[in-house]
Amino acid sequence: MSAKKTAPDSLRNLKGIGQKTEEAFHRAGIMNLRDLIRYYPREYDSFEEPVPVGRCVADIKNAVVAKVTSRPVVRTFGKKSITILNLQDETGTLQVNWFHMPFLRNTIKIGVYYVFRGPVIAKGGRKIMEHPQLYTREEYMKLTGQMLPIYPLTAGLTNNMVRKAVTQLLEMQRTEEEILPDTVREEEGLCEINFARSQIHFPENSENLLIARNRLAFEEFFLFLLGVERLRAINDTTENHFPMREVWETEDVIASLPYKLTGAQQAVWGEIEKDLASKRLMNRLVQGDVGSGKTILAFLAMIMAYENGFQSALMVPTEVLAVQHYQAFTELLEKNGITDLCPVLLRGSCTAKEKREIYEQISSGKTRAIIGTHALIQEKVEYEKLGLVITDEQHRFGVKQREALAGKGYPPNVLVMSATPIPRTLAMILYGDLDISILNDMPAHRLPIKNCVVNTSYRDTAYRFMRKEVEAGHQVYVICPMVEPNEELSCENVTEYAQKLKNVFGSEIAVEALHGQMRPKEKQEIMDAFARGEIKILVSTTVIEVGVNVPNATVMMIENAERFGLAQLHQLRGRVGRGDAQSYCIFMQGDGKKETSERLDILNHSNDGFYIAEEDLKLRGPGDLFGVRQSGIALFQIADIYRDKDLLRRAGTAVKDLLELDPDLELPQNRALAKALQEYLSCQNDDIEDINNI
Ligand code: ADP
Ligand code: MG
Repeated sequence: MSAKKTAPDSLRNLKGIGQKTEEAFHRAGIMNLRDLIRYYPREYDSFEEPVPVGRCVADIKNAVVAKVTSRPVVRTFGKKSITILNLQDETGTLQVNWFHMPFLRNTIKIGVYYVFRGPVIAKGGRKIMEHPQLYTREEYMKLTGQMLPIYPLTAGLTNNMVRKAVTQLLEMQRTEEEILPDTVREEEGLCEINFARSQIHFPENSENLLIARNRLAFEEFFLFLLGVERLRAINDTTENHFPMREVWETEDVIASLPYKLTGAQQAVWGEIEKDLASKRLMNRLVQGDVGSGKTILAFLAMIMAYENGFQSALMVPTEVLAVQHYQAFTELLEKNGITDLCPVLLRGSCTAKEKREIYEQISSGKTRAIIGTHALIQEKVEYEKLGLVITDEQHRFGVKQREALAGKGYPPNVLVMSATPIPRTLAMILYGDLDISILNDMPAHRLPIKNCVVNTSYRDTAYRFMRKEVEAGHQVYVICPMVEPNEELSCENVTEYAQKLKNVFGSEIAVEALHGQMRPKEKQEIMDAFARGEIKILVSTTVIEVGVNVPNATVMMIENAERFGLAQLHQLRGRVGRGDAQSYCIFMQGDGKKETSERLDILNHSNDGFYIAEEDLKLRGPGDLFGVRQSGIALFQIADIYRDKDLLRRAGTAVKDLLELDPDLELPQNRALAKALQEYLSCQNDDIEDINNI
C-alpha cells in the first residue's frame, strides 16, 4: 500500500492526531492548521490568588485556602453519595460538598493546607462550595496567574484536545507572514501577528490578551472593509445590463394584499422601484426590525424583475425559511393570476436528480424566480438572465458572498434585507458599498409583546398559561438550547423536553420537536403541520430563529435564556407578535445569577432591537471581552461591531488612506496584504454558519 502523503496544512501533522481525532476537529469546522490557529478561545480560566475562608464570595467561582481540621463526612442516598467537609478559620466558615467522591474521605489529610476551587452558593445564611477541584498549596502556586483557554466544543472534541493541538502548533514555530503594512501597525499601535496568535490562545496576562485581541479584531475589520471598498469600486463602474421600467402589476399586487403597506414600506418600496428603474445597478440594504414586513418588498421586486423579462433569486439562510418564502410567494402569484413566473425552490437537501431538473428549468429560462438557501451561490447554477438577487436575513451574509455574486456573469441588482439593528453610522461603514433604506415603523394593529423573565419554579404556571392560549386557538413555541441531553452541560434539550410536554399536555394538545439534525423532509413536515395549526406546541432549537412566520403563534417560551445572546433572544421573540392577537414571551432563566437577570431585564423592558444591543453593551462593560457574542452578526470571528465600534471606524479610515496611496495594492509593501485579501474573498462560504444543523 502506498503511504498517503499528508498535506502540509493537515491536522495530521500534529502528534496525537489520528483519523478519529481529526474527524472530531472537522466536526467543529477545524479542517486544517490554518483553521486551528484561528480557533479562538471562548473564554479563559484564570487561577486567582486563593483567599481565606471568610473572604469567598457567593455566586462565583472562588479559590479558598484553608487547613483541614476534621475528616470529611460521607452521606449516602441509595446509589448517590455526598462528601461534606466543613472548613473553618479565624475569618469564617465554609461547607464544601462533593458528589460521588467518597474516596476523598481517605485522601484528604488532616492538618494540611489545601486550595479548594469551585462555585460558591449562599444557602440559608451559609456559604457552600460545590464540587470544587482540590489542589495542594504548591500545586496551586504554580497555576496562579495563568490564564488557560476554554474553547467552544462539539461532540467528541474536548478542551484538552484543542489545548494540546494549539500548544504544539505554536511550538512548531510556524512564523506567519505579517499582512498588515508596517505603517498601519505603527499608526494604530498594533502588535505583531505571531505575538497576537500566541497570546490569544495562552495569554501571559490580561494586558497581553487585550493587545492580542485588538490586533486580531482590527485585522478582521481591515480585510472586510478592503473587500467593501473593492465592491464599491465594482458597483460604481459596472454597467447595468438589466434595464427595467416601473410596472402596473406591482401596484395590483399591493392593492390585493389583505393589509395596507405601512408608510415605511411604501417609502422603501419607492426607493427599490426607483433603483431598479435607474441606469445604475441597485445595491441596497433594507434594515428593519423583526416583524417590520420586509418579505413583501422582496416579492414586489421579484415581480417587477419578472415583468421586465428577468430572473430573480431570493437567498435565505435556512431551509425552513426558504420553504416558507416559496409557499408565500406562490400563493401571492396565484392570487394575482401571475401564472408563468413558475418559481422554484432550490435547497441543499434536493436529490441530485431534482437539482438537475431545477438547474435545467433555470438555465432554459422556464422559471423566472429561484428561492433557496445559500446553495444558490455555492453551486454551479447557470441562470438565463439573472437581473436581481435578494438575500434575506443578511447578517449571515458577508462581503465575501457579495463579492462572489458580483463576480458572476453580468452583475445583477442586489437587495439585502436585514433585521440586525446597526446604528446608521456603523452600517454606512460596514456596508459602504450599499445604499441603505430603513423600515422604521411597524404594521398597525400590532400589540407590543408582553414579556416576563422567570425562574424555573414558574414552569407549571407557564404550562397552565400555554394551555389557556392553545385552548383559545393559538400556538406556542418552546426553545431549548440543545438537541439531546449532554452530560457536560446541564441545560434543556429538545428531545426530552418534547417528551415531557407530551406527558404534561396529554393527547388532546399536539406537541412536536423540531431541530436541525432531523432529516429535511421530516423537518419540513413538522414546520408545515405547525403552520397549518395542527401542531399546537413546537419544541425547537434556534433553527426557527431566522425569519419564520406563523402569525397564529402567540407564546414564545425560551428555556435556559441565559445561554443565548440578547440579539438572538430578540430574534427568537420576533417569531411571535406577528398577528393581531396579544403575544407573550417568557424568558426562563436557568441559572440564579444576578447578572443574567439584569441582562434579561433589558429584553423585559424593550422590544426595540437597537436599544437592546446598546444597553447590553453598557451592561457588559469594556472588560468583558468574550461574553456571548451579542450582536448576532456572524461576520467576524473575534471582532464585535458594538464593542469595537471605534476600532471599526479606525480600520475604515486606515483602509481609505491605504487605498488612496495604492488603490490596486500593487506596491511591494502591500503584496502580502493583496494575497491575504484574495484568499479572504475566495473562501466565500466559510463564515456562513451552518445553522441548519443546530
Ligand atoms: P420581517 O420584516 O421580520 O421579515 P415579515 O415580512 O415576515 O417580517 O412580516 C411579518 C408579518 O407581518 C407577516 O405575517 C406579514 O404578512 C405581515 N405584514 C407585513 N406588512 C404588513 C402590513 N403593512 N400590515 C399588516 N401586516 C403586515
Ligand atoms: Mg423576514
